[in-house]
Formats: sequence, structure tokens, C-alpha cells
Amino acid sequence: MKYDIIIIGAGPGGIFSAYELVKQDESLKVAVFEAGNPLDKRKCPIDGKKVKACVGCPRCAIMSGFGGAGAFSDGKYNITNAFGGTLYEHIGRDQAIGLMEYVDEINLDHGGGGTKMYSTAGTKLKKVCMQNKLQLLDASVRHLGTDINYVVLENIYAELKDKVDFRFCCEVERLEIVEEEADAPAASSGRVYRVYHANGSDDCEKCIISVGRSGSKWMQDVCGELAIPTSSNRVDLGVRVELPAEIFSHLTDELYESKIVYRTEKFEDNVRTFCMNPYGIVVNENTKGIVTVNGHSYEDPEKQTQNTNFALLVAKHFSEPFKDSNGYGESIARLSNMLGGGVIVQRFGDLIRGRRSNEKRIEEGLVRPTLSATPGDLSLVLPKRILDGIIEMIYALDKIAPGTANDDTLLYGVEVKFYNMEVEIDENLETLYKGLYVIGDGSGVTHSLSHASASGVYVARHITGAKER
Ligand SMILES: Cc1cc2nc3c(=O)[nH]c(=O)nc-3n(C[C@H](O)[C@H](O)[C@H](O)COP(=O)(O)OP(=O)(O)OC[C@H]3O[C@@H](n4cnc5c(N)ncnc54)[C@H](O)[C@@H]3O)c2cc1C
Repeated sequence: MKYDIIIIGAGPGGIFSAYELVKQDESLKVAVFEAGNPLDKRKCPIDGKKVKACVGCPRCAIMSGFGGAGAFSDGKYNITNAFGGTLYEHIGRDQAIGLMEYVDEINLDHGGGGTKMYSTAGTKLKKVCMQNKLQLLDASVRHLGTDINYVVLENIYAELKDKVDFRFCCEVERLEIVEEEADAPAASSGRVYRVYHANGSDDCEKCIISVGRSGSKWMQDVCGELAIPTSSNRVDLGVRVELPAEIFSHLTDELYESKIVYRTEKFEDNVRTFCMNPYGIVVNENTKGIVTVNGHSYEDPEKQTQNTNFALLVAKHFSEPFKDSNGYGESIARLSNMLGGGVIVQRFGDLIRGRRSNEKRIEEGLVRPTLSATPGDLSLVLPKRILDGIIEMIYALDKIAPGTANDDTLLYGVEVKFYNMEVEIDENLETLYKGLYVIGDGSGVTHSLSHASASGVYVARHITGAKER
């Protein structure tokens, strides 16, 4: 088949590219190749009863399929340039925000109406943070929640399925650039992109790669084969904190998710809060067989818990000659899996007293863990510099949210945020090959739902020549 445009990956980046392409020009022949399943067939075998831990499916249903890594996420769409990626460096700050707002409107039109938008604008909490050496980053956040996020995806798929050729369970194995013959039609660019998959191959005039984190290795191979320059060297490491929701309620009621940065006194490292889930649950995350920790929360009050959880992460940048920052993060996560058989949980009081937590101490504590993890000692896992930074930040947070540093506060480890290598793309998000675009988390430029989605819309408008709104 020859398509006008092939999109590789049906995560938020790919979905919003497809959405905008056919919105701007319904005559375009667009295909989306997705390694995973359609939304309704995405099922993780972990049911908490018969299957309690990851069984290592060949293709992870949580990370792959229509909706991408975001499908079962908390659906927090942060509208900001302060975090979530550096899209603004390519397309400008105003345009980046405009596109994130546009994505928000689409989400609202497809089932997200009635969900709440939180904002740091005009909040007094910013001053309180500053007075305690903490920086509250500016953002607006639409919280769809895991349940509504799913409904929005269902509705967008229903609208697109007759206009776009979706090929599920169809992993693109290789991408080839084919130069056309000299007698090709005048309108042709002279270059065709050919994607190879288990059922053969298909061609297109323009190709949008949006393979996310799960496609990072594939992306690396493609860049290697096509000599597209890349760079990388960052990994974020830390723990997930779980405490009674009341302790953070003045922040979460007003802001939902507060992104707070603390600069440590000892090493002058930045520690930040990440992925805050009021009344949420702590969950396992499996990346290539390595079990780390993450969090969710639901809009539905029936699914909510008494606890709030959030990550405290320290960004680790490496300099020459070390290049494998993700490998470093993986090794630390493996160490925690080796000691705990999975994720380790420790009371803050035990960590400070230099002793491991055990079942009895966790049981007697006032915070009921929402994830079944192995009681242990995080100081045997996390490098001292990172752990010292986290402890300093917990005491700093205790000043704006007294109770954060209580003995019974639970710390789960490790939480790792892996970063894709950054692919060299220009202001059109286009590689050195005209018509070959790399967007979303797979580009290394975005790390969030809103930035990945916005990058999809941006490229679709560039291709169709649509003007900015
Ligand atoms: C548990 C969890 C919770 C999260 N919560 C939030 C949140 O609340 N807010 C937020 O902003 N971000 C959140 N994130 C991050 C967010 O999901 C990602 O930033 C976002 O999904 C990136 O979108 P993407 O389209 O770039 O990539 P992805 O969503 O990763 O999608 C890429 C798709 O490409 C497919 N693919 C990969 N390789 C190939 C190939 N060779 N051929 C065909 N298909 C391929 C994959 O199967 C996948 O479906 C969360 C992530 C996780 C894992």
C-alpha cells in the first residue's frame, strides 16, 4: 500500500497527529501502525489474585496499544513549559502552550467535560514555598483521572477508525528510505519511506515516528541506520512517598498536582516532586522485567483511598566518558529487585534510624500501604547522595505540609524515570530527511501526555500547511 502519511505508534503523539491530519484534510490517506492491541484488548494479566506479579508478556499491555503508555495513566495533562518536556525550545513558548490548550479542548469534547482544571495562578502557596526554600513551578493541570482518560481515548478512536487505517499488533521492524526513479510524478518529493512489518511492507510520502519510551531501543537502531544524530545522558532516581491525604490536602485541593523543586544544601542537587496522586494508589511498573514504582489516582470517589502519593526524584546527568545513564538507573532498580524481590517499602522513621522496616513495624504504623511491597532498607539501594537529597527535601516539605516527615510516612523504592536519547530534529520536528518527523517521548523532546500530544498536532499542521489558530 502507498499512504500519504504513515504514523508509527498510537500513543498520544500518534493519535493527535492522526486526529489533526484528517481534521485538516479528510482526503489524506493516513495509516497508524501500532505494535500493541486496540484499547479494548489491552489487558494486563496481573489481577492481584491469581497473578500478583509481572509475568513478562512479550508486549506489555500497560505500555503498548491504542493510547500508548498514557492509556491507563492518571490522565494529568499539564499545560506548562516548566516541565513535561522541552517542546518550546523547538516551536516557541506561546505556540507550545497554545497547542496544549487545543489538546485540552479536544479531550473535553471527547468525554473529558466536567473534569477539573487546577492552576498555580494567583496561589498563596507559592509564597509559602519560597519562604521555605521550595520553588512551586507554574502550571495548569487538567486531571482526567484514569477512568475518564480511558473514555476520552475510546471516543477519539470511535471518531478516527473510519478515517484512518489502524493496523494493530503490527510492529514496524525496519524503516527504509527509497529514492524514487527519475521519472516519478512531478508532485513527488523523490523519496519514499518504506516500513517493514510482519505482514510485508508499506510505503508513504511522509512518516511520523511516535514510538514513545517502549520504542526507545527501536528508535536508537533507526537513528543508527539512518545516521540521524542523537544525544543522551540523564536519568531521574528516587522514591515514591505515601502519606495520609490530609497532610497534603491544602496543596492537592487547590493545585491537584504541585511540582515543587528543592535545592539541597549539602550537594546543591535539585530534588523535585513528580506525579502526585491525591487519594491514590501506589503501583508497580515493569520496564523490561525490572520492577519499579509509580502511582495512580481515580476521579471516581469509590476508587479513592485515604492516602496521597508522589515521587521525589533527583536528576542525574552524566558527563564523558559515561554514556549509559539508563543503564545506571536500571542497575539500581535491579539492586532493589534483588534485595526485595520487587519494590521495597520503608517507613521514614526506620530510614532515619538506620534500620530496615519489617512487616510488624509497617503493620503498626498509621499509614496503610496501598501497594504490597517488601519491607526493607532503601539505604542499601540508593546512592548516598541521592538518598541524602531526598531526606533533606522531606524535611523541607514538612515545613509547608507538617507531618510529611512523620515516622510512619512510607517510602517505596525505587522510582526511576528513564529518558529517551534526544533525536536531532529541527523547528518542524523534522529530521535531516525531509518528510521524516520524530515526535512525542520517542524524540526525547517530550516526557508527558500534553507535550507529546501537542507535538503530534504541530507536525500534522506542518504537513497540511494549516495555519496556527
Ligand atoms: C503508569 C504511567 C503513568 C503516567 N502518567 C502520566 C500523567 O498523568 N501525565 C503525563 O503527562 N504523563 C504521564 N505518563 C507519561 C505519558 O504516558 C507519556 O509521556 C506519553 O504517553 C508519551 O506519549 P507518546 O505518544 O510519545 O508515546 P507512548 O505513549 O509511549 O506511545 C508509543 C506507542 O508506540 C508503540 N510502538 C513502539 N514501537 C513501535 C514500533 N516499532 N512499531 C509500532 N508501534 C510501536 C507502542 O506500542 C506505544 O503504544 C505516565 C506514564 C506511565 C507509564
